[in-house]
Parts: sequence; C-alpha cells; structure tokens
Amino acid sequence: MKSASATTAPNSLNRVFLGIGGNLGDRLGNLRRAIELIGERIGRIEKGSSIYLSEPWGFKHAKYFTNIVAEIYTTFSADEVLTKAFEIEAELKRTRSGNGYEGRTMDIDILFFNNEIVNTERLVVPHPHICQRLFVLLPMAEIEPNFVHPQNGKTMLELSEICTDNGKIKKISSN
Ligand code: ADP
Ligand code: MG
Repeated sequence: MKSASATTAPNSLNRVFLGIGGNLGDRLGNLRRAIELIGERIGRIEKGSSIYLSEPWGFKHAKYFTNIVAEIYTTFSADEVLTKAFEIEAELKRTRSGNGYEGRTMDIDILFFNNEIVNTERLVVPHPHICQRLFVLLPMAEIEPNFVHPQNGKTMLELSEICTDNGKIKKISSN
C-alpha cells in the first residue's frame, strides 16, 4: 500500500496552515506561547517555519512584527479553529479597537484549510491577502514550497517569487 504522501493529512485529519505573529510586548515569548497553546488545543504541529521580522503591513507602527507559519493537523473544522485561535489571541492579551490594522500582541490567521474555499461572514479561506504578503509567502515557501494555492493554481514558491510586496523582511531564526 502506498504510504501517505507528505502533502496529505493522515486519515480524516484536516490540514491547516496558520499565520502567527505580533508586534507588541514580548514578541518571541508570545510566539512561543501561541505555538504551545495551538499544539495543545488545535492539533499536532507538523511543521513550523523560521521566524521572520517584518515591517508592519498596511499600516505604520514603530514596532516590527515577528511572524511564522505553522502546518497543523486537526480534527476541528475551520470555524472551530478560528474560535480557538481567537481564544488564544485573547489569552495573549490581544485587544481590538475595531479601527482597522493596528499593533497587536498576537494575530492568528487561517491561511489555508485543506484545499477548501470558505466564504462566510466570519471566515474567508484561503486568507484573502496571502498573495500580497511576503511575511506569509516566504515562510510558506520555506515549509511547503510546492503547496498549490487552490484559487490561482500557483505554488507557494512561485507566489513568493512574483510577489510585489516591498516591505522590509528578514529571517531572524532558523526553524
Ligand atoms: P487581521 O485582518 O489584521 O488579521 P483581525 O485578526 O482583527 O484582523 O481579524 C478580523 C476578522 O477577520 C476577524 O473577526 C475574523 O472573523 C475575520 N477573518 C476572516 N477570514 C479569516 C481568516 N482566514 N483567518 C482569521 N480571521 C479571519
Ligand atoms: Mg487576524
């Protein structure tokens, strides 16, 4: 029998990619804690990228972000993962003023959920800004260069190469 391919989640598990990052407080400590909580409450962390230090995207802020992406196998639905991600953000003292992009201790976004396309009031998957954000594409290309975006058919590596994001970004740790 053929063994499970590296690009398929085992059995009935869902394969989810999360974008995890923040720019306030103890950024590295918050990342570490978020990863711990995700592993405990959402599912097994299959892969994690290096940490990238990136200029705030879409707004001005003195503090750069630390960002990673993680690949997780979970029994939960996309909606349930979002609820758990919100809970973890809240535990890490995320506050929202409701005025668009702003500094935050922790932001956990669902980038991809299997190859599914979700469009509800609360959840849009694939995350709509992936192709414009190097802080997502570089770590995605690092852990799954051949993963294909279900809406445009391009791989993470291709998307990272054609992305026109000119925000400053650098890898600050290896995974
Ligand atoms: P940001 O766009 O900076 O991540 P928030 O984290 O405050 O902003 O999220 C704003 C809203 O985006 C949330 O209330 C959530 O319901 C919605 N949302 C839609 N799609 C997604 C997704 N794929 N991942 C995370 N949040 C999402
Ligand atoms: Mg978010």
